[in-house]
Amino acid sequence: MQNAQPKASHFINGEYVEDTNGRPIPVIYPATGEVIATVHSATPAIIEQALAAAESAQAGWAAMTGTERGRILRRAADIMRERNHDLSVLETLDTGKPYQETSVADATSGADALEYFGGLAGSLTGEHIPLAGGDFVYTRREALGVCVGIGAWNYPTQIACWKAAPALACGNSSIFKPSETTPLCALQVAEILVEAGLPAGVFNVVQGLGDVGATLVTDARVAKVSLTGSVPTGKKVYAAAAAEMKHVTMELGGKSPLIIFDDADVEAAVSGAILGNFYSSGQVCSNGTRVFVHKGIKAAFLKRLSERLARAVIGDPMDPDTSFGPMVSEAQLRVVEGYIAKGRDEGATLSYGGARLDRDGFFLEPTVFSDVTDDMTIAREEIFGPVMSVLDFDSEAEVMSRANATQFGLAAGVFTSDLTRAHRVVAGFEAGTCFINTYNDAPVEAPFGGSKASGVGRENSKAAIEHYSELKTVYVRLSQLEAPF
Ligand code: NDP
Repeated sequence: MQNAQPKASHFINGEYVEDTNGRPIPVIYPATGEVIATVHSATPAIIEQALAAAESAQAGWAAMTGTERGRILRRAADIMRERNHDLSVLETLDTGKPYQETSVADATSGADALEYFGGLAGSLTGEHIPLAGGDFVYTRREALGVCVGIGAWNYPTQIACWKAAPALACGNSSIFKPSETTPLCALQVAEILVEAGLPAGVFNVVQGLGDVGATLVTDARVAKVSLTGSVPTGKKVYAAAAAEMKHVTMELGGKSPLIIFDDADVEAAVSGAILGNFYSSGQVCSNGTRVFVHKGIKAAFLKRLSERLARAVIGDPMDPDTSFGPMVSEAQLRVVEGYIAKGRDEGATLSYGGARLDRDGFFLEPTVFSDVTDDMTIAREEIFGPVMSVLDFDSEAEVMSRANATQFGLAAGVFTSDLTRAHRVVAGFEAGTCFINTYNDAPVEAPFGGSKASGVGRENSKAAIEHYSELKTVYVRLSQLEAPF
């Protein structure tokens, strides 16, 4: 029996805070179904405490030099790396993702974000714009104020850091609400930031369901909202933020195409399809879940895919040899089982997997449907689980129009050995993040985000700075000022 009980449910003004009047939220280890901790949803008093703390801490934090702010973020990155093992175990307990993944992808990518934006913080400046007669304009890059981050459950450490690092680098304070499914990891991020020297109140964590997020989004003290979640939630949060003209970043869902031409290296294409469908048991927003395979290589692709999937080690996520873990929750597993039933009912061919494993926890086999057509539910809706749809195609023109025929536009990928075609195809994709002969890389140096219904704004890279700061324009007159009368 695992125990991951945090010191308290919330982290506000530099310390753990509890209010047991809030609704209890059990934290379930997805590999066993056991309750490993209980946190309490934020009460109105807790939400008020967090907002007051973030508001009063922000000006002092923004008044520090960027270099000073950056030093604290980089120190936090170092602490995260030193504690990678413990943080990875906690991430595995929170999400069920195998330690083999969490030890290289979660606290490490969170630390990358803190280090990267910590490095940028000292060089965030405005510019000088000369005008006629010695007059000039200068711009000041200023913090927005209190930024609210709301996270999904698939990458709780990474999402907390991807939102905190650029926000804090720019001089904002922040309140983060994790998904109620995975409430544990963000508390560690808050603790580490304070240990690294972050002033109390600059980064706060409150627990709760959608209603807590909604209360934060509508509060007048909040200047910006960054959500990672589904498109329906995104529409609600965007609308609520728009009512007060708040800044937003929306990192939402997808149904991304992955096109494999007949000149592709089949082994590499199978690797890309596996990385783009089965990492984190398929619970990745940018997954290439519509795999368009040229008819000429369909048989070879499916054969090799099945052989490679048979090598997946499914089991105890804490075992370093395990490469495929459970789904995050019973509820999500049932959603995915519903899609598998629809795939069968609507006439797709079940080529691999499809069944729940006969063991404790929320384990579902990696699943592949072939002969999928564009109108089938499994080809249209985001499943957010280990289900790959393989669709056939003949020509580039045909596959491009089918690939783009979706409301989503998060990511897209192509495998081909023809360099010219690769760049032509990528230019034609209606998606924010594209891959050529690879899939699902997400280094902090590169912008990440979606177009169409998949999102607004970009996380990571220098582009994120634009979404966590605004420019103030200052006109300076040195020449004689004249007026008509
Ligand atoms: P949800 O949209 O259900 O929830 C996202 C977060 O929003 C949760 O913390 C949720 O709280 C909160 N929330 C729900 N309703 C409201 C509301 N009205 N106001 C404010 N906050 C609210 O997503 P999931 O947690 O199920 O995550 C899966 C989704 O996230 C998928 O669609 C996936 O594609 C997307 N995602 C996108 C990524 C990206 O970067 N583009 C990355 C990762 C995931 P709670 O659930 O606790 O009630």
